[in-house]
Amino acid sequence: MDRGASVCIVGGGPAGMMAGLLLARAGVPVTVLEKHADFLRDFRGDTIHPSTLDLMDELGLGEAFRALPQQRVETLSGVVAGRAFRIADFRHLPSRNRFIAMMPQWDFLDFLARQADKSNFCLQMRTESLSLVEEAGRIVGVRARGPDGETEIRADLVLCADGRHSAMRAQAGFRPQAFGAPMDVLWFRLSRRASDADATAGRFGRGRILVTIDRGEHWQCAYVVPKGGDARLRAGGLPAFRARVADLAPLLADRVGEIASWDDVKVLTVTVDRLERWHRPGLLCIGDAAHAMSPIGGVGINLAIQDAVAAANLLADPLRRGTLTEADLARVQRRRMLPVRLTQGLQRLVQNRVIARVLDETGAPLRPPLALRLLDALPPLQRLPACIVGLGFRPEHVRTEPQAAAP
Ligand SMILES: Cc1cc2nc3c(=O)[nH]c(=O)nc-3n(C[C@H](O)[C@H](O)[C@H](O)COP(=O)(O)OP(=O)(O)OC[C@H]3O[C@@H](n4cnc5c(N)ncnc54)[C@H](O)[C@@H]3O)c2cc1C
Repeated sequence: MDRGASVCIVGGGPAGMMAGLLLARAGVPVTVLEKHADFLRDFRGDTIHPSTLDLMDELGLGEAFRALPQQRVETLSGVVAGRAFRIADFRHLPSRNRFIAMMPQWDFLDFLARQADKSNFCLQMRTESLSLVEEAGRIVGVRARGPDGETEIRADLVLCADGRHSAMRAQAGFRPQAFGAPMDVLWFRLSRRASDADATAGRFGRGRILVTIDRGEHWQCAYVVPKGGDARLRAGGLPAFRARVADLAPLLADRVGEIASWDDVKVLTVTVDRLERWHRPGLLCIGDAAHAMSPIGGVGINLAIQDAVAAANLLADPLRRGTLTEADLARVQRRRMLPVRLTQGLQRLVQNRVIARVLDETGAPLRPPLALRLLDALPPLQRLPACIVGLGFRPEHVRTEPQAAAP
């Protein structure tokens, strides 16, 4: 069946939902396909960055967004040998919103779905894109399976926003260049008490790193292990793991027992990769499908949303006029490639110079490095990491105007 949409977006994550909202608002009929029944997912980042908060204001959605339950993070710290060093301060950002908002990602995606202009925006949940439809060397749609069976959705543009394991980009013949990462991450939750004084922080000890993220009623914990180190850690037994966590975060020693079994601990295989080419005639990859980011700095969502804004800014007009060419798609890649390269370059530097060295169990006892001591001693320096994490390189702004659908 031909749904006649101009844009078919595969994937209802941050990139796909934001691109869908913006294109629909700019008068382009959009169908978003999401294979899951809802947005509820294992933790995959609850951070809404200042740049995204500014976008909400630009779209006139700021007030509605602020009414949603959320916590604000204004500073980030690193703890070494029991001493806290402040490394980022968002309170001086050149931005209307000088904090990171912490909100379950599904609440944010639900919010975007509610706010999208329904006359142009069709979100199909439980609908998985199975394959690309290609005619004369051009992608002209997808075949998808939804609650009513299989269907063909034809579109002037297929936007692949289907994440780091994108099946659509593989079908398009794209293979990302992998850069490797020295670590994987174990995710789990521990309860948080109103009396807990600690803030969101990275805690460093010889051979181990623990990031504790204040999520209001619980601490979201990220325990960093050397690549493939998960099996060794599990072999050591749960009591030993609990003790390692308590050692890094004494505050949590009285509740590490809440990790009742290894089922409570999920593994994130860290991937850093990037496509050399993001487009083909009729198809463009954005977000993690174009570039999986390291968890360092927690900027994957930001980059995905910025790609979506750039895509809407550059493609809404040609789509509405029916003049879209591959050169337009190339413009999106050209605009976003530099921020992606710079961010991944920095992440790889931190991975190799800091993370890999800390995780080496054979090294000398850990001492606070000079960079950390300098950041803590000179507060204005803390604005730089805040800018990189909160706004990113080349922050995007909404350039499209609200429009009715093309007749
Ligand atoms: C455990 C974990 C923690 C993270 N923490 C952070 C953090 O704190 N801060 C941060 O900024 N980033 C974080 N990230 C990274 C962040 O989640 C990603 O960078 C971001 O979600 C990318 O957005 P996206 O829209 O490109 O892809 P995704 O969020 O992966 O969304 C892709 C969507 O496509 C859907 N999909 C896939 N295939 C199909 C198909 N064939 N048909 C239909 N639908 C399909 C998926 O169900 C999914 O909903 C984390 C990632 C993980 C895994």
